[in-house]
Amino acid sequence: MKKNYKEVSIDPTTQQMYERAQEMGIETVWERLEKQQPQCGYGLLGICCRNCMMGPCRINPFGGEPKRGVCGADADTIVARNLLRMIAAGAAAHSDHGRHVALTLLIAAEMAEKFKKEGKPVLELDNMASNTLPYQVRDVEKLKAVAKRLGIETEGRTIREIAKEVAEVALNDFGKQDEEAIAFLKAYLNPKTYEVFEKAGEKAGMPWFENGILPRSIDREIVESLHRTHIGTDHDPVSILLHGLKTSLGDAWGGSLIATELQDILFGTPQVIKAEANLGVLKEDYVNIVVHGHEPVLSEKIVEAAQDPELIELAQKYGAKGINVVGMCCTGLEVLMRHGIPIAGNFLQQEMAIVTGAVEAMVVDVQCIMPATVDVARCFHTKIIDTSPIATFPGAIHIKFDERRADEIAKEIVKTAVENFPNRSKQRVEIPKEKMEGYVGFSVEAILKHFGGTLKPIEDAIIEGKIKGVAGLVGCNNPKVKQDHNHIKIANELMKRDVLLVGTGCWATAAMKYGIFLPEYADTENVGPGLREFAKEWGIPPALNMGSCVDCTRILVLADMVARDLNVPIHALPVVGSAPEAMTEKAVSIGTYFVASGITTHLGVVPPVLGGPKVVKILTHDLYDIVGAAFIVEPDPYKAAKKMYDHIMKKRKELGI
Ligand code: SF4
Ligand code: SF4
Repeated sequence: MKKNYKEVSIDPTTQQMYERAQEMGIETVWERLEKQQPQCGYGLLGICCRNCMMGPCRINPFGGEPKRGVCGADADTIVARNLLRMIAAGAAAHSDHGRHVALTLLIAAEMAEKFKKEGKPVLELDNMASNTLPYQVRDVEKLKAVAKRLGIETEGRTIREIAKEVAEVALNDFGKQDEEAIAFLKAYLNPKTYEVFEKAGEKAGMPWFENGILPRSIDREIVESLHRTHIGTDHDPVSILLHGLKTSLGDAWGGSLIATELQDILFGTPQVIKAEANLGVLKEDYVNIVVHGHEPVLSEKIVEAAQDPELIELAQKYGAKGINVVGMCCTGLEVLMRHGIPIAGNFLQQEMAIVTGAVEAMVVDVQCIMPATVDVARCFHTKIIDTSPIATFPGAIHIKFDERRADEIAKEIVKTAVENFPNRSKQRVEIPKEKMEGYVGFSVEAILKHFGGTLKPIEDAIIEGKIKGVAGLVGCNNPKVKQDHNHIKIANELMKRDVLLVGTGCWATAAMKYGIFLPEYADTENVGPGLREFAKEWGIPPALNMGSCVDCTRILVLADMVARDLNVPIHALPVVGSAPEAMTEKAVSIGTYFVASGITTHLGVVPPVLGGPKVVKILTHDLYDIVGAAFIVEPDPYKAAKKMYDHIMKKRKELGI
């Protein structure tokens, strides 16, 4: 059934393209969601189990029979196991991304070493004058800072030696077999929060969790999640969920943190820069290439290749003015943060971008890419080019990426897009005009630089009450929620109450599209007087874009620094998290690691847990006693903002401020 465009999104470009798709008879995510109705009640409640072939089993949600699966597992066991598998999948996605970046750094260091032995001109990894290496260290200062945190010697050593050791320590965190916590967690986390993690098992009445929820290795905790949830293994929702916290912390202070930090080393740490967002960034007279997915290892190279004079000349030969690279989802945020490459949209706009008829190629890597993009692309001239050996899309062009031949492959991809320009039907192009400017690039380093090398101005403003607290807004779009509606409502409701926002992922793209990342947004009625004064005094927007999904770790590192300054664990801070339109398993892992790290977190989409009353109680209440934070589940954005604000005020009171 056709939906009114106002029901699907508050974004005028999505509304326009949705209408266009309807007129052209193109099926989109909203029709596919409609065709799934009614969605299975067992699945929504989390009370179906397919973990063995005696099943699938379902529990009667109304209290009647069956109360147990064939093996005897009850509703809480089943719900907890399903949730743990979601956390593990989310942690795996982020962490495999982190591993890929660590391997790229290692490959770069090893190639430099090999070149040096062969007498080639590359002597150091940061020799930017040389283009003989596909990847280099763009931020030597950050490399040394990360090395220092990890206890790696930097004095008297070459950049490639330090880079190699940092990559090796990172990779060791994935597969080590001892009982110690992972090196990155130990290097970054303040001792008070570390102690909370260490004692979580005892507090939960399970002292056999000897090191509490400290992750021992990133991969091991993910594998153990699958082991624990295998038929006939762990059946207690408390221990299953404790392991969920541990697995998510391997993501937070391991896989995702490694991704963020090593990407900064390889591609540069983001600094504040002005850029543009929304579908209006596509250009009618240019070859448009959309980079979509999550890993910047390829998209960085696409951005470089698009500046190649020969390829620009080729584009001009075909009648285009040049090559326009734009981003989508988190890959888009990565190149937005580091280079100011415009971002065309968030998750629910991937099909909409193709519907403009102006996209020559959508270059995809991993995560959050709908297979439906291939079907939508068939209605136009757009080529979907898949590039990751682990993500193949039937019907797409496969140009698989190899870091060792990064430049050559990136050029091949850009050339494929350029050569597709003559196939564009000019009559079928319709690009929405809306786009919005905003300041991006607020890495922890950029924030520190802005405030004169310290977080004291933010801390003082919080203590004075000018700012009541900080909210980390993150996560996806979900077609079950009107696109961007909850993102913007919650943001405004919090800013009205003088809460400073930091954010990532599709929330950040939403905020940028509505002008929230402009300093002048502080003058609107959506920002309270204290936050307005603070933002104006420091020349910042009332909300700071901290990057992609893996960059949620920037929020953690920031919170950890404040906690260190105040000599408290993170859970004592007036800080909250929210994923207003959560969708992915990664969002489940992020929410869990926020909570495990001490940040009470709101979910705007109810996760599949309501069928397990004990699980719900653990997640929304008992975790306060174990890690000092818990989940708030509230689909109504106004009520959600109020609950988050109340939590901030409670924390202020406890801190005596
Ligand atoms: S593990 Fe138990 S509840 Fe799950 S499918 Fe097998 S028998 Fe059913
Ligand atoms: S925020 Fe969510 S939907 Fe958006 S790119 Fe990240 S994981 Fe995907």
